[in-house]
Amino acid sequence: MKKHIYVMLVLALALISCNNSSQPVQVDKTKQNDYLTMSTLWYQRASECRALYYQAFNFAKLSLVANLSEADSDKPKAVVVDIDETVLDNSPFEAYSVRTGKPYSKELWHEWTGKAAAKATPGSLEFLKFAESKGVETFYISNRSVSETAVTLENLKALGFPFADEAHILLKTDTSVKTVRRNKVSETHEILILAGDNIGDFDELFEDRSKQFGFETVDNHKTDFGKRFIVLPNPMYGSWERVAFKGKRNLTPEQKNEMRKETLFGYKELAN
Ligand SMILES: [Mg+2]
Repeated sequence: MKKHIYVMLVLALALISCNNSSQPVQVDKTKQNDYLTMSTLWYQRASECRALYYQAFNFAKLSLVANLSEADSDKPKAVVVDIDETVLDNSPFEAYSVRTGKPYSKELWHEWTGKAAAKATPGSLEFLKFAESKGVETFYISNRSVSETAVTLENLKALGFPFADEAHILLKTDTSVKTVRRNKVSETHEILILAGDNIGDFDELFEDRSKQFGFETVDNHKTDFGKRFIVLPNPMYGSWERVAFKGKRNLTPEQKNEMRKETLFGYKELAN
């Protein structure tokens, strides 16, 4: 008899566990940004990341000199740089997100940028000072909101960035696409170099990643990278991440994680 009761108990427990497995997985909210741990760790602590920034800005200097010699207009010369993860390092914000599990919000972001405490990315200040020594102005085109202008200039000025003034900063008003703002700079200046961690920082044609992640567009412009376009590493976030979500919005953190995994390809798929 005792044996029967035991078997029934085991079966009942198995049934309960089966039912539970069909329920959505409840994720501990404090861990929902855990997916950012490795990328943020790499960004903050890998010497390779630091070296890549130096490599990019060293190359930018060489290309600036070459592009200056090939410049063909009477317009004053300029370099255009993005701000976040290009000249300013916001990884402490990402690290805070990992540790607290708090989802991204404008309020939280503004709390961070309001401190005007971001550090310069490696080599960025030297590059822009070098450009200034060659008579080249810097324009900062960023998708920070215009409401963040004062704190952003305060941050850039405190670090000694050249041209950190109202005339040289174009933040986001209505669209994150930067074409109109780039064109505005082009009206008065010849742009010799564009630097950014998102390829949308260079040209609108890179915004469309609907076909093959946008790889073909990059391949078609491969000679521009290092020459006119200087790319900085940012594995923490970016437009690139959205290719995994296939245009879907309002996904839960769990759904996003699943879709990220589905977008990977493994060696077994390679064999097919
Ligand atoms: Mg950026």
